[in-house]
Amino acid sequence: MRKKQFKAESKKLLDMMINSIYTHKEIFLRELISNASDATDKLYFKSLTDDSIKADKDSLKIRIDLDKENRTIKVSDNGIGMSAEELENNLGTIAKSDSLDFKKENADDDNAKDIEVIGQFGVGFYSAFMVADKIEVVSKAVGADVANKWSSTGVDGYTVEECEKDSNGTVITLYLKEDTENENYSQYLEQYKIQELVKKYSDYIRYPIVMEMSKE
Ligand code: ADP
Ligand code: MG
Repeated sequence: MRKKQFKAESKKLLDMMINSIYTHKEIFLRELISNASDATDKLYFKSLTDDSIKADKDSLKIRIDLDKENRTIKVSDNGIGMSAEELENNLGTIAKSDSLDFKKENADDDNAKDIEVIGQFGVGFYSAFMVADKIEVVSKAVGADVANKWSSTGVDGYTVEECEKDSNGTVITLYLKEDTENENYSQYLEQYKIQELVKKYSDYIRYPIVMEMSKE
């Protein structure tokens, strides 16, 4: 499959994320949950004016699945979802060019700048590349017949292909980086850690955030 290239601005931000020395990498979860919540809001509001869309309030939720064996974290929602085109446009380009303009203006020491940008603005979806070396986004737009999978291992581009998904919404799978001397990525596979982060950063989210408890 042919790889597509990220836009130049996105590439810069992506590169910054991948090589980040930012100490609060854990904020990736806040960003993914906030996107899942936004997508759920969008579905809910659309359902108020569009009779063809059913969004039973009780069924709207955000789900987190941890898989130690495969070193993956999944964040799923049953929100509005994305078409192939939306996957490309929304994940291949960076909306928040504000952050990058800020970075240019305050150009002195590169690392200090990165930290400021990440800390002050949050950087959305791409922040997941601080902890993952591969990301897959499987999504089905509400009302659509087909689902698509966006996949990327970083700056070398991304692919989009059709795939199977029963219902509308988005599943984001992070393949965590290997631990290093300075970074413990494996901690994000622990339920208590994820619970702590959800409580710390995502307590205000209006939808239930559920996690399957493993029977150990
Ligand atoms: P922001 O949330 O500020 O727009 P992000 O980088 O976090 O920026 O996300 C980029 C875009 O990708 C979002 O605006 C949205 O259109 C799309 N997106 C990300 N996650 C999801 C999701 N779970 N469901 C639907 N769309 C999503
Ligand atoms: Mg966001």
